[in-house]
Parts: sequence; C-alpha cells; structure tokens
Amino acid sequence: MRGGFNGLRRLGERFAACLQWQITLAYILLVTLPFIWLFFLVEEGGGQVKTALLATAFFFFCFSTGLVYVWSGRLVRNLGEIKHSVERFADGENPKLYGLEAEHEIGQLAQALNGAVETVSLTVRRLTEEKNRFETVLESMVEGVVSFDQLGRIELLNRAGEKMLRTSAAMAKGKQLLAVVRNQVLEDALSKTLQTGLPGTEEVRLWPHQPQIFRVTLVPIFLKQSKVSGAVMVLNDVTEIRRLEQMRTQFVANVSHELHTPLTSIRGFIETLLDGAVDDPQITRRFLSIVATESLRLERLIEDLLLLSRLEHHHEPVIGGNTLAAPEINRVRTLLEPIAREKNVSLVTEIRTGLPQLAMAAAPLNQVLVNLVENAIKYTPAGGRVVVTAQAREKGALIEVIDTGIGIPPASLPRLFERFYRVDKARSRQMGGTGLGLAIVKHLVERAGGYVRVKSEVGKGTVFSVYLPGIKAVAKD
Ligand code: ADP
Repeated sequence: MRGGFNGLRRLGERFAACLQWQITLAYILLVTLPFIWLFFLVEEGGGQVKTALLATAFFFFCFSTGLVYVWSGRLVRNLGEIKHSVERFADGENPKLYGLEAEHEIGQLAQALNGAVETVSLTVRRLTEEKNRFETVLESMVEGVVSFDQLGRIELLNRAGEKMLRTSAAMAKGKQLLAVVRNQVLEDALSKTLQTGLPGTEEVRLWPHQPQIFRVTLVPIFLKQSKVSGAVMVLNDVTEIRRLEQMRTQFVANVSHELHTPLTSIRGFIETLLDGAVDDPQITRRFLSIVATESLRLERLIEDLLLLSRLEHHHEPVIGGNTLAAPEINRVRTLLEPIAREKNVSLVTEIRTGLPQLAMAAAPLNQVLVNLVENAIKYTPAGGRVVVTAQAREKGALIEVIDTGIGIPPASLPRLFERFYRVDKARSRQMGGTGLGLAIVKHLVERAGGYVRVKSEVGKGTVFSVYLPGIKAVAKD
C-alpha cells in the first residue's frame, strides 16, 4: 500500500517536473471542455449529427494535441539546451548557443545569453589579465610588500617581503606581524596606522647582529569612506644608501681635512713672513720652499680628487686603448730612477717576451705604474730593491711591482684601496702622499677590465699584482 503510494507520488513529481506534459495536459483540458459542452448542446440533434460532431471533434482534438505536444517538446528541448549551457558556463567553460532561432523569444533569450556570456567572459579575461599583471609586478618588485587586514593579520606577502621577513607567504598568511618578526617599532607603527588611518614611516633594523637597515612605509587602506580596512607595508633595504651616505660624509670630512692641513701650514708660514721674518733672506727662502711644497701637495690632491671623481662618474674617456706594456714600463723606470737612486733603492725591470697589446690607453697605464712604483720606492728603506715584472697571462698581462720595503699589516690590506686610507698617516703625509694613489689605480685597472691584488708581509715587502686584458680578450668579450 505504502509502496503504491510512493510510486504514485514519484509519478506525480516526474509529471510536475516535465513542462512538455504539463502544457499538453493544459491544452487537452482547455480543448475538451468546450467540446463536451457542445456535445450536450446538440443532444437534441439526433444520433447522426452527434456522431459527425464527435468524429470531427476527435480528429481536431488528436491533431491539435499532437501539434501542441511537438511544439512544447521543442520549447522544452531549447530551454534544456539553455539550462545546460548556463550550467557549463558556471563550471568555467565558454559555451555558445547555436541553432536557436532568433525570431522566437527562446531564440532571443539564447542570443541575449550568448551576449551576456561573452561580456562576462571578456570581463573575467580582463580581470585575470590584470590580476596576473599585478602579481607579476608585485613579485618582481625589489621592495618588500605586505598587506594586512584591519585586525593586523597578514593577507599578502611578495617574494622580496618573504626574503626580508625571512618567512614564506604561506607561513605568514593570517598571522600577526609580531608572530613573524619580533620588532616592536614595526608593530607599533602598524597599530598606529590601523587605528588612526594615517600613513607612517620608520627606519628599523629587523634582525639583531645584522647590518641591514630597512625603511618601512605604512599606508592605510580605506574601502568605505573613512573606515580603515587594512594597511600596506612597503619595506626598502636602504643599507647600501646609508653606507654610501656615510662614506660621502666621511669623504667630505677627509677632503676638508686634507685641504685644511696644507692650507693652514701655508697661511702660518706666510703670516710669520709678514710678521717680520721676511727680513731674513735665509728664513724667507726656507719658508717659501715649504709653501711651494705644500702648494704642490694641494695641487696633487686636487688633481687626484678630480681624476677620481671623473673615474667614478665614468667621465674619463681614455681608459680603453691599445698599448704595449714594455715601453710604458721602461718609460716609468726612466722617470722614477732618479728618485730611487736618491733614496738608494735599486729599481729593476724584468719584462718577458710575448706580451700582448693591452686594452688600455698609454696615459692611464702610465698613471697606474707611476702610482705603484712611486709607492714601492717611498715605502722601501735605503738599500732595498724594487722590481717591476711583466708576463703574459690569460690573454692579457700580469704586471707586478715587488718591493723589499716596510710591508703592510694584514689588518690594513682589505681597506688599502679606499680613498684616503693610509697605514701610517703621519708617514704618508710626510712623504707627500695624498692617500688617493691606490684608489686611482684600482679604478683605472677595473675600468680597463682588469684587477689589482696585493700581498704583503710586514718588514719583508709588498707585491702589487695588476692584471690587464689584451685587446683580443676584450674584443672577444
Ligand atoms: P699615499 O699617497 O699615502 O701613498 P696610496 O693610496 O698610494 O696613498 O697608498 C695608501 C697607503 O698604502 C699608503 O699610505 C701606505 O700606507 C700603503 N702602501 C701603499 N703602497 C705601499 C708599499 N709598497 N709598501 C708599504 N705600504 C704601502
């Protein structure tokens, strides 16, 4: 009994779900009722009329019912096709409704749906493209970007941000900032921006015992007017900028000091002369010779500074060239031999054959050699020896300036090529050094594609090795 009832209910449900049968049944009811009424009206007309009427009614009934059934079937099929397409679209496909005639409402509905699908697909494509572009930009940024919701939980973290905060986006997502990086300054800045809606900037060291300095900018996000719905944090690694700033400040201080010393000395001697010493020709001569030496030092210092500045700003056009090392080395020996002789230091050259032509103009090569050989003579006591060697090496030449001088302590070696760095300030000044000679050598050699190294032992001597590429090596590169 219960099974029969359930079967009936299922049939009823299936019928209720079938639009085609519903339309057909409605039509049958609509058409049959007037016929039954007509049938009773012609009751008096007799059997013949009744039979003819019944036959005609039955024929029309069957024909029209058939028509309605077929037509409603087509309607239902078209609707089914539209439903199927909408379902496929919801699944992410891009279906097209073809074959549905545009004249009927169903056809027009299909066309309207086609249009809607196209518009939505286009919008989705554009949004996807925009999202991809946004993600690519975000990922290729050197600045770390972190976004927070209004409760201060991390929502997004780009690759640079992952590196700076030493975490991964997956790990950090949903966490509070303090749980990722223990920095109270940063946490306070974020809370302030979230509470007040005001942007903020901080400069912090995120990790103890690390020199890295980050400039952190916080910007609030407003979704509704005046309601803060989150914040974006942008982290910039400014370590190098701060280092350069410090170097610049130090450089200015060094230059001022270097200029100040000879100038003070010159002024002192001139004032002494003006105060009456000028009357003594011997003192005048001695003082004027000191003034001349100091002026010469000033001139050298300014020349070296200008050359360094031109080199650092790549405004020195004559680094590259085509020079033979041997004649240049011999020229420098001839130039500096009198100074060496005066100091009782022997100056020797050992030039091997087969040296390639160097990819450096003669003037900068000469400057490199003069600076190195002059230093070697300067820092080698009487009776010592300075040897300049040259040999072919890796499509270029290795030139070495070897001395048996005072040597350089190991602690000073890493800073030796810095501007104004001197192992012994007093000694260097006394010898007329500017403290810029090795910085110039390094710049010139590196600009020509080579490198300079130093090996030294205190009390035994120093070796400066300069590698310079040959023109063929440079042309191949
Ligand atoms: P400076 O004008 O003082 O010589 P440089 O830049 O040429 O400046 O050299 C920097 C410092 O390196 C010098 O002050 C000196 O202390 C050290 N130095 C350079 N060459 C030698 C060398 N051959 N032997 C020992 N010390 C040297």
